[in-house]
Amino acid sequence: MTERRPVDDLVDEVAEEVRDPRVLEAIRAIPRERFVQEHLRRYAYEDSPLPIGRGQTISQPTIVGMMTEALALTGDERVLEIGTGSGYQAAVLARLCRELVTVEVIDELREGAERVLHALGITNVRVLRATDELGAPALGPYEAIIVTAAAPSVPAPLLEQLAEGGRLVIPVGTREEQRLVLVTRKRDGIVTRNLGACRFVPLVGPHGFSD
Ligand code: SAH
Repeated sequence: MTERRPVDDLVDEVAEEVRDPRVLEAIRAIPRERFVQEHLRRYAYEDSPLPIGRGQTISQPTIVGMMTEALALTGDERVLEIGTGSGYQAAVLARLCRELVTVEVIDELREGAERVLHALGITNVRVLRATDELGAPALGPYEAIIVTAAAPSVPAPLLEQLAEGGRLVIPVGTREEQRLVLVTRKRDGIVTRNLGACRFVPLVGPHGFSD
């Protein structure tokens, strides 16, 4: 019998909110301690967000699981992530899709995430520096888009980068609190579903908060 690891307790906690066994397997497979600062490693398998420097955070694993599950990935998709941060969410997504494009505004975080993903042998992720255009329209459209920073509303440029039938998950609300919103792009318009309360660091740039 294999020994029980700290990540197994974490997966049990995430499984209270997340049903998809593929998502739970991806969380079990990714060593979260590699994406947090050394002095915080002992908290890596707690179900909580942690600071990653520059005022940013690695999300709570349950939220990572919920957002990933909402994208309903089958393994074939090209996916866009806004807000690479530590690269942890990217590593989880990479196991469940064909290719991930992830963009980050803070160079130091982008470089750190690239290093860890490379060290873990994850090769289907492209980590890009964010430009003035939100996302990476030149490489789109995407079958799924995930935004891991809070916005006042669903940014129009992201709807444009979403393929027909595609799904977009994003925290929408105020700077202080948001709800996770799942947007599905159908042939005749968009359908929105509320997945519950959450709290993210703000998106920066023209589609973030103006105050
Ligand atoms: N998904 C990350 C969590 C990221 S925190 C993880 O798994 O660790 C949100 C990140 O979004 C921060 O690193 C922040 O710098 C980045 N960000 C904020 N606004 C952005 C924008 N307009 N484009 C790209 N990245 C952005």
